[in-house]
Amino acid sequence: KWKKIKVKNRSKDELHEMEETFNDMIDYLKENYEMQEIFVSDASHELKTPISIIKSYAQLLARRGKDNPELIHESVEAIGTEADRMQKLVEQLLALAKNKEVLHQEKINLSELLEDTIGVFARAYHREIPFQREKALFVNANRDQLKQVFYILIDNALKYSEEQVDVSIDEIGNNVVVQVIDYGTGIPNSEQERIFERFYRVDKARSRNTGGTGLGLAIANTIITAHGGTLSVTSKLGEGSTFSVILPAFDE
Ligand code: ADP
Repeated sequence: KWKKIKVKNRSKDELHEMEETFNDMIDYLKENYEMQEIFVSDASHELKTPISIIKSYAQLLARRGKDNPELIHESVEAIGTEADRMQKLVEQLLALAKNKEVLHQEKINLSELLEDTIGVFARAYHREIPFQREKALFVNANRDQLKQVFYILIDNALKYSEEQVDVSIDEIGNNVVVQVIDYGTGIPNSEQERIFERFYRVDKARSRNTGGTGLGLAIANTIITAHGGTLSVTSKLGEGSTFSVILPAFDE
């Protein structure tokens, strides 16, 4: 973004231009630094909750655990759940950092990749997930990263909707468009932009109960952006949500 410059023998106009560039640089760095600071503070905060729950159960066990099988059972279970949560948080934090770039790219049959991913969910949740496709559509992408995106979107749709979940793939111009549609809770208009931010959750308690971290959509968005695509949502409260992924079609 920035060029290296020499300061000697410069006209007034050039010096003025340099001053502007320099100030832009400072603003940019400051903003990035502040964002990093917020991120570190949010991440620490998210990790603090499971740690304090684990600590209080450990203390409870030490004080009253002896000859109290019910308390032992309850505490071990809670400690296990919170440890799983911390593990997921750490894995997702690493995923955020790792997916800023596209890893090894190849020609991928996206219709087939979706069919496989949907199959995994349909079997795990014992739910039918209709998939609308006409022909095989291809993109240039990293297989694991794309799988992760559709895993996140389908998992969310199933999590936030007891109703039907549909998936479709289509070709629009030079793009491949995938839609994950649910008829569940929906997302208020004012929150639709924010759900792609790290740690942002519309309903914190509900997200926590379903094992959510608020990082899924941020990871999905990072991956799709790195692939030169876009991820967006349209949603109506109480009626459901449609998440759309647009990726450039494979160019022979
Ligand atoms: P989480 O781990 O909480 O699911 P995400 O980043 O995947 O985190 O999603 C952020 C928030 O966006 C969720 O907590 C939820 O409030 C909202 N959300 C995501 N997908 C849906 C959906 N299909 N229907 C309703 N709300 C959703």
